Amino acid sequence: MFAQVIVDIANSGVDRLFTYRAEENIILGQRVLVPFGSGNKPIEGYVLGISESYEGNIALKSIIRPLEPYSVLTHEQIRLAYWIKQSYNCLLVDALRLMIPAQLRRGRVKEKRVRTVKLADGVDPQLIRAGMLKKDGSPKSPKQKEVFDLLSESNAEMSTADICAFIPGASSAIKALIDKGYITEAGRETYRDPYAGRIPLRTMPLTLSAAQADVLEKISAAMDRREGTMLLHGVTGSGKTEVYMQAIAKALDEGGSAIVLVPEISLTPQAMDRFRGRFGEQVAVLHSRLSPGERYDEWRRIRLGKAKVVLGARSAVFAPLENIRLIVVDEEHEQSYSSEMTPRYSAIEVAQKRCKLNGGVLLLGSATPSVTSYFRAKRGRYALLELPERINDLPLPKVDIVDMRQEFAAGNTGIFSGRLYHELKACLDRNEQAILFINRRGYSTFVSCRSCGYVFKCDNCDVSMTYHKIDKLMKCHYCGRTKNIPKVCPECGKPHIKFFGVGTQQVEEQLRDSFPGVKSLRMDMDTTQTRNAHYDILSRFSKGEAQVLIGTQMVAKGLDMPNVSLVGIVAADASLHIPDYRSCERAFQLFTQVAGRAGRANGNGRVVIQTYTPDHPAVVLASRHDYKGFYEYEIAQRRAALFPPYALFVRVLFIHEDQAPLCEAEERFAQGLKDAILQALKAQGADERELLFMVWGEAPIKRIDGKYRRQIVLKLARTKHTPKAVDAIYSYANAHRSEYFCSLDLNPGDMF
Ligand code: ADP
Ligand code: ZN
Repeated sequence: MFAQVIVDIANSGVDRLFTYRAEENIILGQRVLVPFGSGNKPIEGYVLGISESYEGNIALKSIIRPLEPYSVLTHEQIRLAYWIKQSYNCLLVDALRLMIPAQLRRGRVKEKRVRTVKLADGVDPQLIRAGMLKKDGSPKSPKQKEVFDLLSESNAEMSTADICAFIPGASSAIKALIDKGYITEAGRETYRDPYAGRIPLRTMPLTLSAAQADVLEKISAAMDRREGTMLLHGVTGSGKTEVYMQAIAKALDEGGSAIVLVPEISLTPQAMDRFRGRFGEQVAVLHSRLSPGERYDEWRRIRLGKAKVVLGARSAVFAPLENIRLIVVDEEHEQSYSSEMTPRYSAIEVAQKRCKLNGGVLLLGSATPSVTSYFRAKRGRYALLELPERINDLPLPKVDIVDMRQEFAAGNTGIFSGRLYHELKACLDRNEQAILFINRRGYSTFVSCRSCGYVFKCDNCDVSMTYHKIDKLMKCHYCGRTKNIPKVCPECGKPHIKFFGVGTQQVEEQLRDSFPGVKSLRMDMDTTQTRNAHYDILSRFSKGEAQVLIGTQMVAKGLDMPNVSLVGIVAADASLHIPDYRSCERAFQLFTQVAGRAGRANGNGRVVIQTYTPDHPAVVLASRHDYKGFYEYEIAQRRAALFPPYALFVRVLFIHEDQAPLCEAEERFAQGLKDAILQALKAQGADERELLFMVWGEAPIKRIDGKYRRQIVLKLARTKHTPKAVDAIYSYANAHRSEYFCSLDLNPGDMF
């Protein structure tokens, strides 16, 4: 037998298959150890092909040994890896690495074994016990006898830890008994439980509302046809999750499996309990807070067919399931489904490909679908499903917009408008809970001199620094460096340094001043550094330990807290004026999602949006819960400006410490790239003007962490010629990589 092996080295020089001699028992997709290079150093690799004959005439080396008795990659995953390499212009080995836990490679984690002991085979306990006694009947070694009695009475394997718990200091006695051959060591594989022993109550499927039943029927029909991509637009609290669960039940009933992707941040214990409550041990979870051992154990449960429903964040789309019948992507508009590391894949595109390979259905769900997805649904590329009402006819919360210019004119210079103060007071008096949302962490967003206008910037990054009152420091949110606040302005020497813009810490302080004694919790990047901080804050809030939750985007997602009746969007403008063509879409989504946290139990929810631009369409339409109105507004803007989905943005980023050679390299690359694109368009008979524009120069943030950043941004009209132009861009980039080249993105998540 011969095996085609790719070695686990990320280098374009060796990113191909090498043929080795193999034993009969090698399996496709297995990890193997192979001798590699002139020194025959043992290296890990993956078997991607097996053949019975070999045509070449080089003397072949042999595989040293397989690393696991099973294949770590399914056939489908191997095909998927080739597709990822092609689609995202990465190495094949980078694509393969997405599919197995990093910890498995280089043997960093193993199955967890506990040390156990049992009576040795064939020993007669009576006889041994007799031999353990002195002539006077007292034991020669009381500890050894105690351990032996415990084991022979229980007549089972026991962990040494358990024995030592019963009999303190038993370890040397255990060793002595093993040496004498009375007991033997066994060792049992155990499972690292990522749920900390939580066993949720089992739930039964709910009787669906008419709207839910109609949606489920359409999903079932697509599952029977074994194809399709569907977009479920359902308002917050419309019962999307229940629909997902009943569709998953169908997949399981028919012997298949399913994946549910959610944004990392909404993967709360409550969310996990919902799925585990319905599907029990068949559920595996994959998220970033798992320890390496837990992640490995969950991965193995999936690979070995014990778990058939995978709930996880972005990377769970690669779960080694077989016969996938359904992939659900909840909150499909979230940016976090696009990876910002190489390979820069979109989990939604990968999910769509896996559904094609498996004959499964892709179900995208959101209360605020991305403009691009809704556009595709309207064009018929996705089937559109709708749940326009909340369950039990609960109304959506009533939203008030407060014009902060008028507040200021009326002499209110505080953070809370009269309206928000009044609603907050009423909410607290009713003993209900409130969420205050502010899109910035820290105390203030920038520090500046009132006299000359000097703004403090990070020495290493081209960004202004944020004041953190709790640490009495300025912090850079890009590199983490801090600075003390000087008494006088470094520019003009006057003592007029002030803090501008509101952050979470300042809201917390104002709340304390305005409502003394009211308990609050703050949830932002600064308070959620530790592994379980985020869970702890949410569970304390849901237990009512605090009445107010103050937070950034983190509080916008997926929380189902029945006692929350008020949501305050403290400074909507911080989300509106971001220089990105999607800022309006993102702001609308964010406002709608945050607002959706209010009044989920009894429909008496209230939302107050504070803004200096009360007429902004994202504000006005979010206040009316009018997604369709927003879509029509936004798509018209996109069409007029030729923005996605009507065009494709490509961004190539260059980063280096030295400015001069960086400029030169970028300039050369840009010229060459332009020629390559124009050539590709011409070769297809396309108009050169399909390259709508191409600009290059400093990135909006010129420097991060001491390194200069420059970028090329180009825009292509979306036509049937675009894929060929993208191929040309990729192949130009592959042929001209340099130490300056950093990344190439299609429709990047941000353009900073
Ligand atoms: P979404 O995912 O759309 O925000 P959820 O699935 O969380 O909505 O549903 C909101 C609430 O309504 C949940 O508490 C859920 O248990 C409940 N619910 C969903 N479907 C039904 C139903 N058919 N009958 C009764 N309650 C339901
Ligand atoms: Zn910095």
